[in-house]
Amino acid sequence: MQPRARTFRLGLLRSLALTGSLLALVASPLLSGPAPAQDGPARNAAVAIAADLASQGGTTKLVLTLSKPVEARAFVMERPDRAVIDLPEVNFQLGPEAGRKRDGVVASFRYGLFAPGRSRIVVDLAGPAVVEGIETATTRAGATLVTIPFRRVERDAFRKASVAGDPNPSAAKAPAPGEAADTRPLIVVDAGHGGIDPGAIAATGVYEKDIVFGFAQALVQRLEATGRYRIAMTRDRDVFVALSERVRIAREAKADLFVSIHADSISSAPQVKGATIYTGSEKATDGESARLAERENKADAAGGSDAGEGASDVADILQELTLRETRGFSAGFAGKLMGQLSPVMEMSTKPHREAGFRVLRSPDVPSVLVELGYLSSKSDLEKLLSEEWRTKVTGAMAKAIDLFFAGRATLSRPTAASPRKAASIAPVSP
Ligand SMILES: [Zn+2]
Repeated sequence: MQPRARTFRLGLLRSLALTGSLLALVASPLLSGPAPAQDGPARNAAVAIAADLASQGGTTKLVLTLSKPVEARAFVMERPDRAVIDLPEVNFQLGPEAGRKRDGVVASFRYGLFAPGRSRIVVDLAGPAVVEGIETATTRAGATLVTIPFRRVERDAFRKASVAGDPNPSAAKAPAPGEAADTRPLIVVDAGHGGIDPGAIAATGVYEKDIVFGFAQALVQRLEATGRYRIAMTRDRDVFVALSERVRIAREAKADLFVSIHADSISSAPQVKGATIYTGSEKATDGESARLAERENKADAAGGSDAGEGASDVADILQELTLRETRGFSAGFAGKLMGQLSPVMEMSTKPHREAGFRVLRSPDVPSVLVELGYLSSKSDLEKLLSEEWRTKVTGAMAKAIDLFFAGRATLSRPTAASPRKAASIAPVSP
């Protein structure tokens, strides 16, 4: 009885903590699986060349300069206060400082590919505000200006707007009434770095972002082949995605497991090798883990996103409680992963460690980060580039995932699984 009660409480806390979230919105496009690998943004995507802010009275306008018109839809969310602008795929060619601009009610913003064919701008609000009347105009030179106005409102009005969810329900991809929701566990595979953030760089010039992306894709294919899971990737190509956005993708989709893939480098110690599985913790296992987390946490700065955001994700007591429970599941999965990986690959001297990685801060999604090996180690790098090695390791990971969910199914299915899914869809159904 004990485990069942625990699991149900986790589900309940998840629902509470995520009221007003967007499962239905993000689910379908994300879950359709990775798009075929591409070398960059879709060729016909609009190009964004500028994003400017201007305030007047209680209104702050975000003006995007684009190569062609796009349809923009906006909605606001609480905790933290933010506005989300959904766009068709946009090729953002903005300077690295673009998202750090602060003006009026706009504290900062992030942008990037959100799912195949969909881009998103997430605006962190300095206070409650609503988005009203997005306007599109064409300049004499032929560029498109999309103006997104954020108008300051009282907290009550903001709450009302955010609880109501998507103001453009036609964008929602909630299952039609009567259509059965897919209740298979949702696994979010997170390939580290991407786009303008290459991650670690091997002496040979190979980028971490490319190695981990290839691995993540192989893992996704492996898992999809089982038919037992829904899979989403935080990036499906070489694109920058902020760390907080990776966490948000997993949380808003109500993922059941988040697996982040990285490959570190210690150029000062080329003899150091092997894989390490990390789970989140405020207190790092050792200095080396703390330094690694610090390095990885700088990915947002590398991509021009606000690195200060994120800590508030776990600010309230409810989330703190949920986080504690979730970390138990994360550690359980890390144990299973270690059991499967150790026989097929070289592990580091301390194969399970903890550290304060920002991508491991979801209070409600069991999360692990796997450092596959060191790009600074010649033998690790060789393995990381080997197809045969990759097949072995993704197979072992898939096995660990099977074991994890087999264990959870017997504990949670009768109470938690279905009510949680049902509850999560209800608030956003139009
Ligand atoms: Zn990394």
